[in-house]
Formats: sequence, C-alpha cells, structure tokens
Amino acid sequence: MTRINPGGTIGIMGGGQLGRMLALAAAQLGYKCHIYCPEENSPAFQVADQKTVAAYENEVALTEFAQSVDVATYEFENVPSQTAAVVAANTLLRPGAKALAVSQDRLVEKQFLNEAGVETAPYEAFHTAEDLQAAFKKIGRPSVAKTRRFGYDGKGQKLIKTQKDLEVVLDVTNNTPAILEGFVPFDREISVIVARSASGDVAAFPVGENVHTNHILDTTDVPATVSDRVEAKAKVMATKVANALDYVGVVGVEMFVIDSTSQIIVNEIAPRVHNSGHWTMDGAVTSQFEQHIRAICDLPLGNTGALGTVRMKNLLGEDILDLDGYFADPTASVHHYGKHDPRPGRKMGHVNWVKRQD
Ligand code: AMP
Repeated sequence: MTRINPGGTIGIMGGGQLGRMLALAAAQLGYKCHIYCPEENSPAFQVADQKTVAAYENEVALTEFAQSVDVATYEFENVPSQTAAVVAANTLLRPGAKALAVSQDRLVEKQFLNEAGVETAPYEAFHTAEDLQAAFKKIGRPSVAKTRRFGYDGKGQKLIKTQKDLEVVLDVTNNTPAILEGFVPFDREISVIVARSASGDVAAFPVGENVHTNHILDTTDVPATVSDRVEAKAKVMATKVANALDYVGVVGVEMFVIDSTSQIIVNEIAPRVHNSGHWTMDGAVTSQFEQHIRAICDLPLGNTGALGTVRMKNLLGEDILDLDGYFADPTASVHHYGKHDPRPGRKMGHVNWVKRQD
C-alpha cells in the first residue's frame, strides 16, 4: 500500500472536464496535478500546476510525465493499453490496466460481469453477416447491436426492431467486431458511483436515477425512485464489480431496473469519475472527485451521504451561453467547464440543485 500525502503530485491522463474537476478536488486537499493531454487549450490545463501536450503514443513524453508524479490516473477509459503500460512502468497507475482492458471491450466487459456474478442483458458476439444471422437467431428482437470498442453516447449502436433494421447493422458497426444484446424493457436507468481505496475499503454513493436524451445524459436525480431493496442490491452489485477488478479509485456502474421484478441489469462500467456522479459536488458530503483523489492516494474514504434531494442537469452546446436564469436561482450551483466552442451536444457545464434535509 503506497499512501501519497498532501503535497504530492497526481498525474491525470486526459484534460477534459473530468480531469479539470479532479484537479480542483486535488488542489482542495493540497495536491498538485500534472495533466497529460494531446489537445492544446484543454479545460483541465486552466486549473492545474503542470501540463504536457503530447500524443498518447509519445513514449518519451509519457515516461517523463510518469516520472514527475507520485501516482497517475485517467479521466477516460479509452487510454491505449500501451500508454497505460508505459505509465505503469514508471509510476503507480490507479486504477490499473485490468479496469481499462475490461471496459474498453463490450464483450470482455459482459464476460467479466457475468463471472463476477452480476446480471447483464443476454448477448452474442458477431463480426460478419453470417455471425450476425447466427447471433440474431439466439437473441431475437428487439435487440441492440453495439460495436465492441469505442462506442459512446449511442455511437456505433443500432436498435433492431424490424427486418429492415437488421439489414443496416453492419453499416452501423462498420464491419468491426460487435455484440448483439437483448433489448431490456427497463422502467428506469440508474447508476452507482462507488469508490475502492488502495487499502481495499469500499464506499458507494446513494443511487442516482438517470434520464438520457438522444443517448446523452440529461439529468440525474437523487434519491432514485427505487425501493430500499433495489437501492441496496444496486450498491452490492457495484461493490462486487469494484472488488472483482481489484479496483482503486471511483468507478461508475450503469444499470437498468425492471420495477415489477426488482431486476437490476448492468449495462456498462466506466473506470473513472462519471457524469452521473456530478450531483455529489454540491449534494453529498464528499464529491466523487475528492473521493477518487482520496482512493488513489490511499487516504480514508469520505462520507458518501447525500445532503438532501438533488438534481443534476447537463448544459450541452449553446445551453452554456444563457446562464443568467441559473445565476439568479438561489438554489442552483453552476459549473462551467471553461470550454470555448459550444458545439451541439458537447458537454459544456452542469447545474446542481440541492433541497437540503434539515
Ligand atoms: P450504452 O452506449 O451501452 O450506454 O447505451 C446507451 C443507451 O442506449 C442506454 O443508456 C440505454 O438507454 C440504451 N440501451 C443500451 N443498451 C440497451 C439494451 N440492451 N436494452 C435497452 N436499452 C438499451
């Protein structure tokens, strides 16, 4: 167990809003951050002590970065495995390479989840038209085709309801390795943000209920409108995932809930702080960002209790240009990510509302 005390330096791969909010939380606890990101003008650079602008394939820059920090972490799951290996050879990497390998490939992820005793949608792998027919025979419709790698916000996915839908699947998956999943007739989507420290302590935040619009997270509400039994079971499932990965840090576990049977089906895991955990910044005793820093530095984990009823709303694209209503709202906390170009659908900021329970 290697504890890193305040005064130490944390390396973060990725300079987006998650890296930025991690760096802010690290600063609060007295740590410095070194951000590694290929893009100039990355939002996290504005709030960090050191930056490296270099490609993830640049092994010289990666080695220098890793040697300059006490522990390295990442804000996105598509860190190339060779990048992670170079960093891990030169400093502590938390979470480790296993979490990346599992979350980068939907087939490996599903196999891992089932082995960990966690339920997923039924699935079959496919690549060619022939495999697709065989997979479709087993899974039937409705079903969802997804590329195994690099899918996010609904990209590389196709919902199959009709024979016509089936015909365009290989265009959507771009003839790359993919999986066909059974469609889950869920009533709600929830997520559990759970932290596991380097010493193996685990703490889950209250369950959040998520609404997606056009495949992008719109709102998270806490508490979720689920029974105490579902709330407890969801936390147990997320804890199983963190333990089975021998995980260090914060992980987001996204789940579907079927109310009539109290069934919980895990959709995917994100080995990082997660958008559906942003409510914790104003609505929990400890934020998910502080919790991640505590976990990777092997400090005691913070209190995950909610301060009341909380709603988080994402600000996408040009939403960020009209903040006056939120600034005038005495119950709203505004978070602006410092990005300049408000492209449609781009995550530019978020707002939290907390109704305190006294
Ligand atoms: P994903 O990219 O796996 O997070 O999926 C994006 C969204 O598509 C999810 O949040 C769900 O709303 C929907 N979705 C994905 N997989 C399924 C499924 N097997 N059954 C029903 N809806 C799904």
